[in-house]
Amino acid sequence: MSEENLPRFVQCMCRGDCPGFTQLNVWSLLNYVRNELDVQYAIVHPQLCVDDGDRFWQDLAKPGVTYVVGGCDPKMQRKMYKDALAAVGADFDKQVIALDLRNMPTEEAMKKVTDVFEKLNLSQD
Ligand code: SF4
Repeated sequence: MSEENLPRFVQCMCRGDCPGFTQLNVWSLLNYVRNELDVQYAIVHPQLCVDDGDRFWQDLAKPGVTYVVGGCDPKMQRKMYKDALAAVGADFDKQVIALDLRNMPTEEAMKKVTDVFEKLNLSQD
């Protein structure tokens, strides 16, 4: 896969004060993803489900690019991002892989993200 088509990893941290993320060292996770996985880049956003999250998606999202997003319940993520993505021609259902990384130690989150990237790599072969 060419570099510009590599998936992007976005971690939503629920303002940084959600009890669901107290076990997650977000910087260890991001550094692991950027250094060990086939990703174009990895970033963190404080709260994707509010107005500046919508603006962020509308700046970032490109049709055809895959976004692996760590955060809360995938159904909630879908509800909260799909309209912002649709407004710029992106499609949540085709382009976003939402992962629930709450209540998970860092190592477990790394494994869950790795499994998704491995499946994405296989699907490109
Ligand atoms: S999208 Fe989910 S994880 Fe992110 S701030 Fe909203 S509720 Fe929290």
